[in-house]
Amino acid sequence: MEGEGPPPPAADLRITDMEINHQSVPPGQLPGPNGKLSLADAQRTLSLSFSLLDYRAGGDLRYRHRLEGFDQGWLDSGTRAPGASYTNLPAGQYVLKAEVYQAGQEGPLATLSLPILIEPFWYETLWARLGGLVLALLAVAGIVQARTSALHRQRRRLEAEVADRTRDLLTANARLDMLASTDPLTGLLNRRRFMELAAAEQLRAGRHQRPLSLLLIDLDHFKRVNDEYGHRMGDAVLRTAATVLSGAIRGSDLAARFGGEELVLLLPETDLTGAAGMAERLRQAFATATTSLDGIEVRVTASLGVAAWRAPGESLDNLLHRADQALYAAKHAGRDKVMVAAGAMPG
Ligand code: GH3
Ligand code: MG
Ligand code: MG
Repeated sequence: MEGEGPPPPAADLRITDMEINHQSVPPGQLPGPNGKLSLADAQRTLSLSFSLLDYRAGGDLRYRHRLEGFDQGWLDSGTRAPGASYTNLPAGQYVLKAEVYQAGQEGPLATLSLPILIEPFWYETLWARLGGLVLALLAVAGIVQARTSALHRQRRRLEAEVADRTRDLLTANARLDMLASTDPLTGLLNRRRFMELAAAEQLRAGRHQRPLSLLLIDLDHFKRVNDEYGHRMGDAVLRTAATVLSGAIRGSDLAARFGGEELVLLLPETDLTGAAGMAERLRQAFATATTSLDGIEVRVTASLGVAAWRAPGESLDNLLHRADQALYAAKHAGRDKVMVAAGAMPG
């Protein structure tokens, strides 16, 4: 009843015993009813006992507790020496709640609420974690940087290697092209290459309406050289003839070995008169050139047939044919001669 005598003393649930890291806390330092508990970073193991003080109603008491921020729900604290025990608590803020009930009663007889703060280790602090994160990011950036520059180095090496290989390939190609287009004995163009280049020259001369002439050269009685001095001497004479020819022509002229001991010369920008003059100079040069082999010296003359291209309709074959006819005439006239073709337009 209100106002009738003093209210019954409130039941008091108190911490009666406490161990931090298995060390007993002296009774004078136990947290009181409105107290709090602050633990240092290394103080992570905690056990507490609590009991109901100044309460006269004895009998069947039940205790339960819960560490808010850690326990999921309420835990039975036991009856004989009720208490709670925690090991390896993480740093943080908690509230230890405890309640005592008497059998048959609805609400708790008494409650206890103790805020607990556990300081973090230095490496658990926000700054330490941020610092760690920054270091990790720097490390990753460093690794990425190192990897990127390694890849760049590798790429430069590969590019240099590809450039080397490409150069080798171009050199090899040029060499192959040279081998495929020159005659190995004389170093002159071979017949196939001559025909290709002559066709191109013919097109150019036709387009610009420029003169173009052709000389066919055949060594005289060459078979005799082979027969009398041997094939090696024959080869040496062929090389001499090639040297004479190469020494007499301009850069734009095309000199080739047309077959056996037959040479051919295409003269761009040269009309029949010019070509005949060139042929005569060549005839004299062949006639005076000597070939020495094994102490023996030979001199071999040549016969030449000259023809000027009849633009625009004459084919290369026809031009060659007319030069060949002139060459035949030179042979027929006694060799060591120049003959000029007078052949007509085809058709
Ligand atoms: P002609 O004055 O009528 O041209 O007489 P020739 O003996 O020069 O002509 P012929 O065509 O009868 O003989 C050509 C010779 O050239 C026959 C061949 O064995 C020789 N010959 C062809 N190619 C080579 C070669 O590469 N080396 C050598 N040593 N001889 C060759
Ligand atoms: Mg011949
Ligand atoms: Mg001959």
